[in-house]
Amino acid sequence: YRAKTARSGFEVYDDTQHSSAWDRLATVEALRLALDRGRLTLAFQPIVDAHTRLPRSVEALVRWTDAERGFVPPDVFLPLAEHAGLMPQLTRTVLDLAFEEAAILRELGHDIAVSVNLSASDLLDGLLEQELLERLHEHALPVHAVKIEITESLLVDSHGRAGDFLLAVREEGFELLVDDFGTGYSSMAYLHDLPVSTLKIDRAFTSRLSTDPRTGVIVDSTIEMAHRLGLSVVAEGVETEAELAWLQEHHCDLIQGYLMSRPLPAADLHTWLAAQKPLSV
Ligand code: C2E
Ligand code: MG
Ligand code: MG
Ligand code: MG
Repeated sequence: YRAKTARSGFEVYDDTQHSSAWDRLATVEALRLALDRGRLTLAFQPIVDAHTRLPRSVEALVRWTDAERGFVPPDVFLPLAEHAGLMPQLTRTVLDLAFEEAAILRELGHDIAVSVNLSASDLLDGLLEQELLERLHEHALPVHAVKIEITESLLVDSHGRAGDFLLAVREEGFELLVDDFGTGYSSMAYLHDLPVSTLKIDRAFTSRLSTDPRTGVIVDSTIEMAHRLGLSVVAEGVETEAELAWLQEHHCDLIQGYLMSRPLPAADLHTWLAAQKPLSV
């Protein structure tokens, strides 16, 4: 698998064009085995306050390293999982690990949430709302300990059952974040209809902030609009101090990106968090 990041910041994957149907089938079988054997893990990427740089939450990102294939990026295996009907099992694995980590963070004294990404089929999975509540209960977690990220393109199409699911989980108190904001190429009507709390500005915008003034106008207007709607804004993919400075100046609320930290295994996250804690005098 070759995952390429084009200069534009948009990701282009060779997978579907160049791997054969046989390769994909073999990868699906390897993934199925990895799921059954509990081989999938999570990495956690901190999301910090844009001004104080203190951690506010972490995003859970699924990881799969296969003996034969090595590290397989989620952008490669998630579409295969979705297509092969493995998403219900994958999402439950992710939720188990994410809720467990949310509980551990609390035990370690960090009042920060874990956000999980849901996919298209998850929104139609009739059992998920109940299972989210059961997991909260099982770990004795408050509802603000877990947040849910849905990509903008999914939100745009979320009518019927998908829309009902989103309204129901919001009603239960789970915060909904709009992931990859700005890449949905579509109407923003869902902002009016769905109870989201936060926009996550896609990395493609962040990476162009320093070089393209037009991108600055788009991001500035997005932050302004979000704030006027009572929403907060996360900038994804912040890699440079220049990008951070621009975002601070334009009142972006939260920052996520390699500048602060890469996605980390849980043990490394705990070390990172301990180092961020303000010293109590
Ligand atoms: P996303 O939810 O938008 O997650 C952010 C992605 O940007 C992650 O890629 C993260 O590693 C990457 N990233 C963060 N900061 C930087 C940066 O400063 N520079 C660069 N170049 N990249 C940065 P990752 O982990 O490969 O995940 C890709 C996508 O796969 C995610 O995009 C999300 O849509 C999906 N995904 C990941 N984990 C899960 C999961 O458990 N369930 C579902 N349904 N989707 C997931
Ligand atoms: Mg996300
Ligand atoms: Mg995103
Ligand atoms: Mg993304």
